[in-house]
Amino acid sequence: MNLIESKLPKVGTTIFTTMGKLAYQYDAVNLSQGFPNFNADSKLLKLVQEAISEGYNQYAPMQGIYSLREIISEKIENLYGHSYNPENEITITASATQGIFTAISTFVKPNDEVIIFKPAYDCYEPAITLCGGVIVPIQLLDADFKIDWENFKAAITPKTKMVIINTPHNPTGTILSEQDMLKLQYILEDTNIILLSDEVYEHLVFDGKTHESAAKFQGLASRSILCASFGKTFHVTGWKMGYCAAPKELMLEFRKVHQYVVFCVNHPVQHGVAQYLKNPKNYIGLNTFYQQKRDYFLNAIQNSRFKISPCTGTYFQILDYSSITDENDISFAERLIKEYKIASIPISVFNLDNQDNKQLRFCFAKTEETLDKAAEILNRI
Ligand code: GLN
Repeated sequence: MNLIESKLPKVGTTIFTTMGKLAYQYDAVNLSQGFPNFNADSKLLKLVQEAISEGYNQYAPMQGIYSLREIISEKIENLYGHSYNPENEITITASATQGIFTAISTFVKPNDEVIIFKPAYDCYEPAITLCGGVIVPIQLLDADFKIDWENFKAAITPKTKMVIINTPHNPTGTILSEQDMLKLQYILEDTNIILLSDEVYEHLVFDGKTHESAAKFQGLASRSILCASFGKTFHVTGWKMGYCAAPKELMLEFRKVHQYVVFCVNHPVQHGVAQYLKNPKNYIGLNTFYQQKRDYFLNAIQNSRFKISPCTGTYFQILDYSSITDENDISFAERLIKEYKIASIPISVFNLDNQDNKQLRFCFAKTEETLDKAAEILNRI
């Protein structure tokens, strides 16, 4: 018998699981997988508990409860000036990862090309491969990770079906500027290319910069599926809930797949989040909150031997260790866990051909106590 012909022969276990497990095993300060080590606002927790007590414990509507889609629509309109009809243009998903998987499965056919920028978050490529799509990777260079738009233009062919962008960007902590988005809009004009815009860190943008959502640009919004995450915004990554927004023609197709991937999403959590989202203060201050954490962390390690280029978004900071050792980043990251008891994520796993640029990613969504412990270790290396 030969039961298995793997559809993902090159895929192993995700780096987040690998590093997280090792961190646990060695009792290391865990700045690897991105998750806050503090609790969400007790008001939000209470709202979800109330929804459970009130009996919202059966299936939710397939597309998500209306009140949640309605408040999301208002939020997007207020922030980015684009109106999505809650009826047919917004769907609540079981995490952004599910939204991304569903979007790719909905639109990518065998031999369709999908352009992605490397380093790329690791859930895009397996989904493209499962659909028989062809990954067209563009490596972003060095410390600033800027997109060379001429390079991008040259990668477009008649087979290009989709482009995936991610701003603020995981793992690099960079953001796309208004100029970037305008260039993208201009290049995609007159094409039939769908834009998948992963914006899960939309509320984590620093230094007075603004998040440039694809929704802000009419020429992009009309061809985009926006993916967002409540886990990142409300410090509840374990709730695995987010949403997608897209023009109704795209959303209609998206829902055909969504209904058979999850059917619907956790019902009481939707009620809690819908209530909580009514107050914009519950997400508007997040930039300042995380900027303070970034600054606290970077200040504490400023005399270390790592080279620091402060991130402008997300809760991830890349540190360059080239002046410490020429070990490759995976073995260095493993050694840091085992010998120094600090866990990070090596960037090479997200790069084209696993290029090793001596960079590690550290998550600073942690209490000051944890950041102090981490800094004490990093300063010793
Ligand atoms: N988004 C998280 C990170 O980048 C990981 C989530 C996961 O483990 N799949 O660290």
